[in-house]
Amino acid sequence: METNGQSAPEAATGDPLDPGCRPHVRVEDLVRGAAPAGERAPADAGAGCAGGERAPAEPGAGGAPGEPLTAKLARRTVPGDLYERGPEEGYLRCTACAHRCVLSPGRAGACGIRFEQDGELRVPFGYVARHYVRSVETNTIFHVRPGARSLTFGMFGCDLRCPYCQNWKVSQALREPEGDGEPIDISAADLVETAVAAGCGVLASAYNEPMITAEWARAVFTEARRRGLVTALISDGNTTPEALAYMRPVTDVFRVDLKGWSADQYRTLGGRVEPVLAAIGEARRLGYWVEVVTLVVPGFNDKAAGLRALGAEIARVDPDIPWHLNAFYPRYKMRDRLTTDPAFLVDVAGVAYARGMRYVYVSNVADRVRELSHTRCPGCYEVVVRRFNYETQEVLLSGGACPACGTRVPGLWGPAAA
Ligand code: SF4
Repeated sequence: METNGQSAPEAATGDPLDPGCRPHVRVEDLVRGAAPAGERAPADAGAGCAGGERAPAEPGAGGAPGEPLTAKLARRTVPGDLYERGPEEGYLRCTACAHRCVLSPGRAGACGIRFEQDGELRVPFGYVARHYVRSVETNTIFHVRPGARSLTFGMFGCDLRCPYCQNWKVSQALREPEGDGEPIDISAADLVETAVAAGCGVLASAYNEPMITAEWARAVFTEARRRGLVTALISDGNTTPEALAYMRPVTDVFRVDLKGWSADQYRTLGGRVEPVLAAIGEARRLGYWVEVVTLVVPGFNDKAAGLRALGAEIARVDPDIPWHLNAFYPRYKMRDRLTTDPAFLVDVAGVAYARGMRYVYVSNVADRVRELSHTRCPGCYEVVVRRFNYETQEVLLSGGACPACGTRVPGLWGPAAA
């Protein structure tokens, strides 16, 4: 499994308040045929979710046959936390992602799932698009509870629009006619209970961009923390300091995709590189455990000099941040591309090591580059965590340190709950 792809905002539609990210969806279209979302919103939804979750929409309530996904999702919303008022009377500015959409009355943001209604921001709550139990390593997280099971859930929609997204059926479900469109209603407590019953030590939000549903993720993670689980955001990194600070009290891990180095590359995806680099630094400063993934796509971001520059940017924040170089396989709108040559990834990893990074992995190539899936001690180079194809085979660390030379190896180690 490789990095989770993300998506891009809709084309601008002419809001003079924000030329970069304009509201483009009318709420009357979102909720057509559905009862007003406000009728199901809890009255006291405030700045946080700690101590209790908000009431989700009734499962299936008010749904008409053939109801569009946008309407189904609009019925499953609560008042949001991540926004500010302005820049004019009646307008809201969403702060969940770096687009910072200005929402005029009755309009949704570029993600299509957060919208203004009756003076408040409405945000998704009380459902998932899908959830699976797999090893934590399948989230491309290598320094957290190796070998633990992870319940990973995803939602619908995305702030980016990557043409190689492996999860496009949910991330692009509001844009693609072939998307998967049936929300699974579930409470935060029941989702976490599912994870605990399956023996999970980790709970992660992935498959689409979790920050666009930060209020829901925070409610789920609050419950997960209460049950002793490690929590992880699998993010495209196109987020804000406000959202990172909002999630940090209940989140341990920020696993971020760094998808390129140039404005042109990120324009293709519908974002900008600067907020992603800033988010990596800010997450580290806030105390998240951070791991970075770069999916190397032939003809898109497979230039050695550019990848070396990405490695340098990560090392500048902290050379202890693990960097995963993942191989691409043709899919979605990039079925005409070749797969990534593993030898090229090995070369990039070698340069990154030579320039001071301490944990560089080559993944998504099955067993062809097995040596670069292990964690090695940066002091004596002994293997301290042995892996094979996203599965941990052996953890040799002793109290988070190399058993041979005693060098500390950073990460959230410890016994897996599973
Ligand atoms: S999450 Fe991002 S794309 Fe969605 S409304 Fe907020 S700022 Fe816009």
